[in-house]
Amino acid sequence: MSQTILILGGTKEAAELAEKLVLELPQARIISSLAGRTKEPSPVAGEVRIGGFGGAEGLARFLTQNNITRLIDVTHPFAKNISKNAKIAAVNTGIKLEIRTRQPWQKSQDDLWIEVTTLEDARKAIPIGARVLLALGSQYIDIFKTRSDVHFIVRMVDEPSTQLSLPNHQIIIGKPGDIEDETALLKQFSITHIVCRNSGGQGAYAKIEAARALKIPVIIIGQNT
Ligand code: NAP
Repeated sequence: MSQTILILGGTKEAAELAEKLVLELPQARIISSLAGRTKEPSPVAGEVRIGGFGGAEGLARFLTQNNITRLIDVTHPFAKNISKNAKIAAVNTGIKLEIRTRQPWQKSQDDLWIEVTTLEDARKAIPIGARVLLALGSQYIDIFKTRSDVHFIVRMVDEPSTQLSLPNHQIIIGKPGDIEDETALLKQFSITHIVCRNSGGQGAYAKIEAARALKIPVIIIGQNT
């Protein structure tokens, strides 16, 4: 019997898995599901569907209607709702769920991490007058608007549709680079602190390595938020 595999994706690892499965299982139907958070997502091998399912019930319906035989969760570790919905939908449909979400980064002894659990604590942890690389999704930036003493360099994948509420900022459009790119960026903008989430995986890790080498503190928000 041919398989139909649904990958809950939106991450680099999910795209890599889709590519691997398309090559390894030419008879199978491989569907990747994206939340639709980025305007121009990178190409993904196999079929792609975009947008929410309508909660756990909607996901269960999709699984049944499309005769899904394998469900694989490779979503972002901070995307907690879809992972929760996947567990419920898997139980309710009897379809096996494979969880392949990333583990958080581990602090090495040379990392200057200030570990926090909420965005609010991240905001409080920024020293007066800092120059901060804010590497967070656009929906998490508003909370920093009270820090008019801080200069923010905001890295975003897409151009924001409305003006950012931060009083003192510059925007860089782009994805995280390799260690050379990240080192150059931290130096170019005289960054004194990074604020980011502990997303795990390789895709966004270079900034952590660059900060370590340059002895720049990283205010890092844990995954339990
Ligand atoms: P979420 O809070 O887990 O999901 C919210 C809703 O979005 C889900 O209930 C679901 O809607 C829909 N959704 C999420 N992922 C989906 C997927 N792969 N396919 C189809 N629908 C999906 O996740 P989020 O709001 O997307 O993101 C939460 C955090 O993860 C954010 O911090 C975000 O920056 C980060 N993140 C997410 C992605 C991503 O692709 N989702 C990628 C990178 C980073 P329904 O209930 O209607 O099904």
